[in-house]
Amino acid sequence: MRKSLGRHYLQIPGPTNTPLPILAAIAKPTIDHRGPDFAVLGLDVLTRIRSVFRTKAPVVIYPTSGTGAWEAALVNTLSPGERVLMFETGWFSTLWSRMTQALGLEAEIIAGDWRSGVKAELIGQRLRADPDRAIKAVAVVHNETSTGVASDIGAVRRAIDGAGHPALLLVDTISSLGSIEYRHDEWGVDVTVGGSQKGLMLPPGLGFNAVSDRALAASRTARLPRSFLRWDEMLAANATGYFPYTPSTNLLQGLKVALDLLDEEGIENVFARHRRAALATRRAVARWGFETQCRDEREHSSSLTAVRLPEGHSADALRREILARSNLSLGNGLGPLADRVFRIGHLGDFNDTSVLGALASIEMGLRTRGIPHGKGGVDAAIEVLAGNAMPVAEAAE
Ligand SMILES: *Cc1c(COP(=O)(O)O)cnc(C)c1O
Repeated sequence: MRKSLGRHYLQIPGPTNTPLPILAAIAKPTIDHRGPDFAVLGLDVLTRIRSVFRTKAPVVIYPTSGTGAWEAALVNTLSPGERVLMFETGWFSTLWSRMTQALGLEAEIIAGDWRSGVKAELIGQRLRADPDRAIKAVAVVHNETSTGVASDIGAVRRAIDGAGHPALLLVDTISSLGSIEYRHDEWGVDVTVGGSQKGLMLPPGLGFNAVSDRALAASRTARLPRSFLRWDEMLAANATGYFPYTPSTNLLQGLKVALDLLDEEGIENVFARHRRAALATRRAVARWGFETQCRDEREHSSSLTAVRLPEGHSADALRREILARSNLSLGNGLGPLADRVFRIGHLGDFNDTSVLGALASIEMGLRTRGIPHGKGGVDAAIEVLAGNAMPVAEAAE
């Protein structure tokens, strides 16, 4: 079979599918990043990106992947040897804690089970047992992309405040920004870390830091070495719409259109579309008779679903089969979940057809691999999608 038959279906939880209007904007000629046209673009995206984070604070945009923005959050606010309290939600929280150690900080990790979210009460408990204020920051992942678990960030802020502790709150919203409700200001987050290639529907290559006043104040005395990722030079240049070094000009052209698309749909509608696809997906998984990696009904992510295959069956072999047969990419299991779990992305630019196509291809893969499963998963998803259909006019667009 010709591998390129039909189009490729990218249903991984990032990078996500980039809509054609965004691709067209990226394909436009690169402009002079020191010229007058650039300042118009720069001011536009730097101003409007704030609403996606629900903040009035500045948002720094780096030409990096999300990992670079993780590093920026740490090196701008902390000094060598300082302690960061982190919660182990899964693979991404683990990578962030490894980076924290590698940068010469001390990562103190509250162990988790990779099936549930941040336990805010444990953070509060630990902070109350820190009378000397040795902990300088609390760092958590909002939407843990390895497990499909979303945590309550407002509860983490209340736990920090309840303990009367001055630690900064650093949050990774890389796979939830523009897909799951997120409120930087209201939740009292000090640095929010984002990336371009998930809910913002762009290719990889932009990293974001939303920076609170307290974080900015901390950056004036922080002593970790930093140069490329410095906030101060960035914010100074951003004031007039420019960057201290060459930005990802074309991705910023794409970002402008991504913000237009989010505005056009309405951010609340964007969140609702993700919730609905997630529910349809979970109903299919339940009908197949499989467990989701997320164990708590209140913590299911709306941007992806991590599915546990029954013991003795290889999730990677299933994904390989589905890629070969259906030209559909699914996310792999990460770290200890390798080969046990596969992840369905319902994130960014998708519609009911994307969701149903993915579920039908998975169901076919289960059948051809001989993995025992309950029949009617796609039907169960249709029940959800048909019962709460988009208005016809919108669906027809
Ligand atoms: C994708 C992702 C990252 C990693 O970002 P990169 O762009 O690959 O550097 C970090 N955290 C979470 C929660 C993610 O989903």
